[in-house]
Amino acid sequence: MDIGFIGIGKMGKHMSSRILDAGYDLTVHDLRREAAAPLLEKGAKWGDTPGEVAASTRVVFSSLPTPQSVEEVVYGTNGLRAGWKEGDIYVDMSTNSPSLIKRIAGDARAMGVAVLDAPVSGGTKGAEAGTLAIMVGGDPASLESVREVLETMGRKIFPVGDVGFGNVAKLANNMISLACNSISAEGFALGVKAGINPQVLWDIITVSTGNNWCLQQYPNTTFKGNFEPGFRVDLAYKDIGLALALGKEYAVPLPLGIAVQQDLHDTMEAGFADKGVDAVILPLENVTGVPVRLDE
Ligand code: NAD
Repeated sequence: MDIGFIGIGKMGKHMSSRILDAGYDLTVHDLRREAAAPLLEKGAKWGDTPGEVAASTRVVFSSLPTPQSVEEVVYGTNGLRAGWKEGDIYVDMSTNSPSLIKRIAGDARAMGVAVLDAPVSGGTKGAEAGTLAIMVGGDPASLESVREVLETMGRKIFPVGDVGFGNVAKLANNMISLACNSISAEGFALGVKAGINPQVLWDIITVSTGNNWCLQQYPNTTFKGNFEPGFRVDLAYKDIGLALALGKEYAVPLPLGIAVQQDLHDTMEAGFADKGVDAVILPLENVTGVPVRLDE
């Protein structure tokens, strides 16, 4: 099966590399050609535009930062639509707007092209190890025809319903996870300012009811002062915005989601938009004057 992959970023570079290593013929594209260099060295082909990638493959995957970038890749000049042929499949693995991917799926259907939304969870480590959770919206037959490729990237593949529902699941997950991220930062800023050693507090909370995935990252991030992404603050801000928009669409009040959005906004305003999401603790540390760090 000829595969295309668009968006060779922090996630996409690992996901596409795993597809290539599994033996598929791979054609890649990104706005930054240099991002594809390691893949091209391993035998991947380069497509100058998304349309060229679509024209030369049957299935195209994408891992793009924002709904705007997905829209550009599909509808832009020489976008996927320029290269789609009847029977093709497009699998968007970005965290994206459910309404946008539904619109794309409708337009693609008219051309005989099937669309799945298949956002992922598990971070860059999960992408590298091929252990992502993948939540798939779209027609079951199309999912079955790409399942083996998805299995090169993830261990847990969840059919969620019609196209768009993959992102509904993902946005619910990220709203919960980002709330844990913000409140963990507040708990640690408070406890450490009040005098507890960060390691002692972590040992307690990770076996107590406050335990969560974000806290599990602290030994490699916050405790070392390592805020390199990972998952960037600006992308997290995008996700919480999409979750709140979905809340508005379905008239579901999301007051904690709004608080998380404000927290991420403040973190960006403080200059940390391109840091990893653990950086929400940095503005708090500026207030407390006590960094939550462990000595090497
Ligand atoms: P990233 O910014 O590192 O990578 C995105 C890539 O897309 C970049 O290489 C960029 O050059 C490319 N790109 C942007 N616009 C393009 C266009 N119009 N045409 C071609 N290429 C374009 O982002 P990432 O962290 O890899 O995240 C990708 C997606 O996965 C996002 O939707 C994100 O929300 C989601 N996600 C990220 C993580 C994480 O831990 N980083 C985890 C789960 C899901």
